Amino acid sequence: MVSRRRILGALGLAATAPGLAALRLLPGAGAASAQPGPDRPFRAVAPLVGTDGPRAAVTLSFRNPFQGGAVYLSVQHALAAEARLFGRAYALAPGAGVLEGFVGVGVADPPGPAAIGISGVDLAGHAFTYSEPITIRATSWTYDDIWLPPPDPHAPPPLEPEQPRLDALYATVTPRQWELPFIIPVELGGPVFISGYFGEQRSFNGGPRTGHHGGTDIGAPMGTPVRSTNYGTVVLSELTLVRGELVVVDHGAGVLSCYGHLSERRVAVGEQVRRGDIVGLVGSTGLSSGPHLHWELSVGGVLVDGLRWLDGTQGF
Ligand SMILES: [Zn+2]
Repeated sequence: MVSRRRILGALGLAATAPGLAALRLLPGAGAASAQPGPDRPFRAVAPLVGTDGPRAAVTLSFRNPFQGGAVYLSVQHALAAEARLFGRAYALAPGAGVLEGFVGVGVADPPGPAAIGISGVDLAGHAFTYSEPITIRATSWTYDDIWLPPPDPHAPPPLEPEQPRLDALYATVTPRQWELPFIIPVELGGPVFISGYFGEQRSFNGGPRTGHHGGTDIGAPMGTPVRSTNYGTVVLSELTLVRGELVVVDHGAGVLSCYGHLSERRVAVGEQVRRGDIVGLVGSTGLSSGPHLHWELSVGGVLVDGLRWLDGTQGF
């Protein structure tokens, strides 16, 4: 028979180790400093089970997102939760037994160590907060020098730039509709190719290279069908100054997508779309130098790279 002292020795503990009681039996939550007694027994607890039930547990899809990337995270055993990165809030919405959602990394977020904060309320009604370390990787941005024809002096007066309205839409959080997986709006291959990457820095007509392209450009023949990347509600469908004929779909829980330069829109505001439904046809309306789809994806108000979102490298 193996002696108790030998087992403790193998664990690196002396029989008189002061932490022994705490190692074997943990007092109930909130009772750490109280003495046990007939009305306050010690209770054995597993790491994620408190005296009131399971504690909230957070899972991240991965911890090394690029600038313009995203992290999927899920929270178990919680009634409500939200995530934060650099002060920005990201909604976490009910899924299959978990709260889940995405955290977007902005093009200007600094590379290096950072932390995603998760706060919420667990199943016992207690507030919780976690800080999950991540490391943001620098993206090497592509660049392009674009030449546009001079404006037609007989053209009608220009429309108001649409960006402020898009920013307001991207900041809205509605009930979740998205379901994994998301799909590419126009299937690549043959005459369909990536004609401009997300985050690209551009110059127009010989000007300086500035800014970051907010979407992915997919070059495709005029009239190619454009499909919604996921389930959602159409929240904008109109002719705009820069993106031309434009459709914006709200997928809920802070995730929205936009489809620009269309030759034709096929959906109206308020319409529900399913993943893969045709929202319009490829065109070259607005500020465009040839037929292509300009596809944006926004999460929590931050534009992220749709190709990274789809390529499986971010763990979702
Ligand atoms: Zn574009």
